[in-house]
Amino acid sequence: CGIFAYLNYHVPRTRRDILEILLKGLRRLEYRGYDSAGVGIDGGNNKDWESNAKTIQLIKQRGKVKALDEEINKQQDIDLDVEFDVHLGIAHTRWATHGVPSPVNSHPQRSDKNNEFIVIHNGIITNYKDLRKFLESKGYEFESETDTETIAKLVKYMYDNRESDDINFATLVERVTQQLEGAFALVFKSVHYPGEAVGTRRGSPLLMGVRSDHKLSADHIPVLYRSSGKDKKGCSALPRTDQDTCLFPVDEKAVEYYFASDASAVIEHTNRVIFLEDDDVAAVMEGRLSIHRIKRRAGDYPARAIQTLQ
Ligand code: GLU
Repeated sequence: CGIFAYLNYHVPRTRRDILEILLKGLRRLEYRGYDSAGVGIDGGNNKDWESNAKTIQLIKQRGKVKALDEEINKQQDIDLDVEFDVHLGIAHTRWATHGVPSPVNSHPQRSDKNNEFIVIHNGIITNYKDLRKFLESKGYEFESETDTETIAKLVKYMYDNRESDDINFATLVERVTQQLEGAFALVFKSVHYPGEAVGTRRGSPLLMGVRSDHKLSADHIPVLYRSSGKDKKGCSALPRTDQDTCLFPVDEKAVEYYFASDASAVIEHTNRVIFLEDDDVAAVMEGRLSIHRIKRRAGDYPARAIQTLQ
């Protein structure tokens, strides 16, 4: 029932800091109600973030955020002092709709035993039975009773059946959402796309926070960028529509992004937020945020803008 994700791009953070930010985000969403909670973070204990991002660690627990916190403290194999220059952590509080509250049914849900793709989801996928049947027929083995697990498997299916090796994360997610019916807010993380995040929504709320305040010059304030004709690296990979936006922190070296179900979870970090619209796919790639709207329903949506909350 609550989504929170945090991506630090060239803003060094220890694993302890990251987990603290994630748990705090979840606590801010507690009022929405939930029965279990979980986080997905990078698993390695090396010095360089890129090799740490080759494995994903999931920690999930039934009950309160406090129970998850205790579970995290029990983990022997993660070193809390490891510093990450770049890292994506995703966190979730679940209000079970399909499958009892239990660690295996908690989110993040995963694509496979190696945690290649993980996803957090708010909402209900109404066609999950058909999707599950299809994926099982292709050999994907399910471990939970959730509707959400089909999404984690489906993104791996899209990846396993990609037509070229340089396919980007946002395109995979876009293909997944085209198969989904129901309501969702989703954030994806993958060992195949280290330091990248993709979020999307339809019917369930999702917003992003942006923070890049390490230098307080006006030149370093992120600017909202309309895509037309001026593509730059990181924002050029996606198909473009009039509704697309691309956000470039002018100083591309250090920026933090947040995904949340509710602004109350990001307001302590930044007051610059972007409320995603239905069918937006928001991708952070190389520290840049680009938002692409899947369906073109001209005039249906207000233009997206970065807003300053009071
Ligand atoms: N339908 C999903 C599940 O039961 C997500 C529920 C939620 O929004 O927390 O796992």
